[in-house]
Amino acid sequence: MKCLEINGKYRSYPIIIGKGILNNLQNLEKYDKILILSNDRIGKLYFDKVIQSIGREDVFVFFISDGEKYKNFNTVNEIYDYMVTKNFSRKSLIITLGGGVVCDIGGFVAGTYMRGIDFIQIPTSLLAQVDASIGGKTAVNHKSGKNLIGLFNQPILVLIDIEFLETLPKEEFFSGMGEVIKHSLILYGKDKSYFNFLRDNCEQLLKLDEEKLIEMIEKSCFVKKKIVEKDEFEENERVFLNLGHTYAHIIEKSFGYGLISHGEAVSKGIIFELAMSGVKKREIDKIRSLFHLFHLNCEPISFCGNSFIETAKCDKKNSFENINFILFDENMNLRKEAVGIEEILRVNESFCDRYIK
Ligand code: NAD
Repeated sequence: MKCLEINGKYRSYPIIIGKGILNNLQNLEKYDKILILSNDRIGKLYFDKVIQSIGREDVFVFFISDGEKYKNFNTVNEIYDYMVTKNFSRKSLIITLGGGVVCDIGGFVAGTYMRGIDFIQIPTSLLAQVDASIGGKTAVNHKSGKNLIGLFNQPILVLIDIEFLETLPKEEFFSGMGEVIKHSLILYGKDKSYFNFLRDNCEQLLKLDEEKLIEMIEKSCFVKKKIVEKDEFEENERVFLNLGHTYAHIIEKSFGYGLISHGEAVSKGIIFELAMSGVKKREIDKIRSLFHLFHLNCEPISFCGNSFIETAKCDKKNSFENINFILFDENMNLRKEAVGIEEILRVNESFCDRYIK
């Protein structure tokens, strides 16, 4: 079992990583009520196990429907209604049990119900374990865009149990690997050891080898911890966690969420940003082959120019005529840059053998 501590401005909390570690759900007597928030798929699989670990009878459960399309205010209102009806108070606790969708909604509800109550994250997808459950970003989608309504809200504990990954569909595992590889590339300019670790241990990781998996998740959480501790509210280097995401959001919005997995969209975005940075082909090929090892089709798709730019402009991170990208310098370190439309169209054109209208 591994343990990391995230030291935030207003709250510090542990991230516990291991196998069969739900017995760490202890000291919950001080809460008058506990709500386990999950979805109908994960809830059915793991609800009993979590209740047993809590060791209390008076636990409430709310299952939302499974899917990104339910990460919205309707769902949030249903949860508020349930909590109000059951007399949840400021001394109550929410435990999220699920992938990034459940973690994001649960964190948002916990941050807003009665001006904020405690919550624990139990992420069950790889993507949520290495990314969504840590760092305190919580949000729901608005009809005009993803994650438009949200707040920074840190949990009191994150419990990452790799046993959950045994029932996670393979495509979802690969998707999580997109974010993991992104973490290795954030370090790449200064330290290639995480990148090499992923390449050298690919087979064991795909077989869910306990030791390697825990090591990988710990390394990824450590990358996120270091960045979040320096810049909790995304004023500076936290933007580097958005590597690949400008393009990923464009592609997800254009195709509709779900057709291409988030991790695959991020991998395409990273290749797009490597090309935009003018990184040498040999280096890009090396990175491309790591994505391929984890079954991620990282080849960008060329868009009809106007639709690309118009979709990019809708992203909350952009303003005016320039679009923000995370680029690599000549030493493969990251920087944020507002890129002009002509340059974006030039890179988009360079992938014109792979296009959509
Ligand atoms: P998800 O929550 O929809 O989970 C993906 C699918 O896997 C779902 O069908 C889910 O039911 C299923 N699943 C999850 N764990 C399972 C398990 N152990 N066994 C069987 N099935 C399981 O999606 P995700 O990829 O986990 O997360 C994506 C969401 O996370 C997006 O909404 C994104 O915006 C958000 N996110 C947030 C942050 C953040 O910092 N807050 C970071 C990255 C992503």
